[in-house]
Amino acid sequence: MSLQVRSNVSLKHYNTFGIDVDAKLFAEAHSDEDVRQALAYAAQLPIPLLVIGGGSNLLLTGDVQALVLRMASRGIHVLSDDGARVIVEAEAGEPWHPFVQWSLEHGLSGLENLSLIPGTVGAAPMQNIGAYGVEIKDVFSGLTALDRQTGELREFDLEACAFGYRDSLFKREPGRWLILRVRFALDRVAHLHLDYGPVRQRLTEQGIEQPSPRDVSQAICSIRREKLPDPAELGNAGSFFKNPVIAATLAAEIKLKYPGLVAYPQADGQIKLAAGWLIEQAGWKGHRDGDAGVHRLQALVLVNYGNATGGQLQALAQRIQADIVERFGVHLEMEPNLY
Ligand code: FAD
Ligand code: NAP
Repeated sequence: MSLQVRSNVSLKHYNTFGIDVDAKLFAEAHSDEDVRQALAYAAQLPIPLLVIGGGSNLLLTGDVQALVLRMASRGIHVLSDDGARVIVEAEAGEPWHPFVQWSLEHGLSGLENLSLIPGTVGAAPMQNIGAYGVEIKDVFSGLTALDRQTGELREFDLEACAFGYRDSLFKREPGRWLILRVRFALDRVAHLHLDYGPVRQRLTEQGIEQPSPRDVSQAICSIRREKLPDPAELGNAGSFFKNPVIAATLAAEIKLKYPGLVAYPQADGQIKLAAGWLIEQAGWKGHRDGDAGVHRLQALVLVNYGNATGGQLQALAQRIQADIVERFGVHLEMEPNLY
């Protein structure tokens, strides 16, 4: 067997919260063959297989009684190019942001608004990653996944993935699909999305009237660096809660009491609230319980100041959830995957 399986491996450097727990067993998959070997190996064990990528959307609440398989497969290939639209396939273990940069260096646009998101290509469809008005579904062409129940390979098109807001079929069927590679439809002629948050304003401040996809990427990277903690310096998993999408009647009630409510009408008539605004209004921004805290610049991000446990972060999250229900009548759903 080429797969190297190790026992009792610390996951501290494999999750961006920097939680120091052990995996009972740990291996890295560099190829489809490694993945198959890991599945066959795990089938003989009394413990499950847990697939991870960059660990940037995980909250580990204790030692992981599983064979943790980190996807480390690499490779980016152009599958077709008609001069306008280019289909690019990337292996699951490719780090996301360098892949975005690769696309920009090759004159391709579509991924620029998704710059500087940590993690891997293979995990990106799990929650239909999104930022600054673009989601992976907008540039998605297809993916290949292994059905862990049957061992068969399956091809998914856009419809089959059933992408939703920070959601997908893969997230709704946890432990079933192991994503091996993902295909993206990228454009040689850019159709830029600049009308979200401070993107256009940042470009204007820089004197850029006709931005290129690279300009947009750089502007988004600079905005993100100002606001979001770098996991290499302060443990975090990005947004800890999803923005709640609620009935328009409830949003109107909340607005009567809180006229500054940050709310975005959705196509289906519902209203998306900025969870960070709710948490900030409730006074949690900058709050700290030991080493578990709420970031001082972005209330949506929980942080680990050093030695917080997953349980302490989860307890803080639950206190915030209860407070937001009490104040606003709104339930905040956790975004990271809990193990
Ligand atoms: P992991 O955390 O390793 O895994 C996440 C889930 O996917 C787990 O359930 C895991 O079992 C599963 N999984 C991983 N790989 C595979 C695979 N190949 N096949 C099947 N299942 C798999 N997210 C956004 O959407 N938008 C943002 O703007 C954003 N910004 C962030 C900023 C920061 C600072 C941080 C720390 C996080 C941010 N995130 C954001 C969250 C996170 O980066 C993304 O969700 C990312 O796609 C997770 O990738 P990962 O490889 O780290 O996945
Ligand atoms: P922001 O710009 O301060 O905006 C606050 C919230 O309002 C965002 O969550 C965003 O929702 C929403 N919003 C802003 N402008 C909007 C518009 N024109 N239409 C609809 N909704 C709008 O947010 P931020 O925290 O700095 O993050 C910037 C972007 O990066 C956001 O898209 C955010 O989702 C993404 N991000 C995600 C994570 C993560 O871990 N998931 C972490 C960091 C940043 P949306 O979140 O729905 O876009």
